[in-house]
Amino acid sequence: MVTGPSLDEHHPLPRSHGGRATVTVHKICHRAIHAMLSERELAEEFSDFDKLRTHPMLAQFIAWVKKRPPEYYDRTRWSRSRRYK
Ligand SMILES: [Zn+2]
Repeated sequence: MVTGPSLDEHHPLPRSHGGRATVTVHKICHRAIHAMLSERELAEEFSDFDKLRTHPMLAQFIAWVKKRPPEYYDRTRWSRSRRYK
C-alpha cells in the first residue's frame, strides 16, 4: 500500500480535448479544480497549470487547505467545501 498524501494525475488540457500531459496534484485539490471549472473552461482558459494556480477561487482554496492538519484530508467530505464556490 502507498502511504502519505493522496495524489492524483491532473490533465491541464483535459483528455476529452486531446490533452496528454499530466501534473501531480493532491486529490482534495483535484476535486476542487473540477468542482470549480468545466473541462471546456480548463481547455480554453486553464490548460496552462501555472495559470490555473492563480485562479482566484482555487488560490483561495489552496491557501485555506494548507492550514488544515494532515488528517483533515481523510475526514473531510467534499460537500463541506461548497462555501468556496
Ligand atoms: Zn483533473
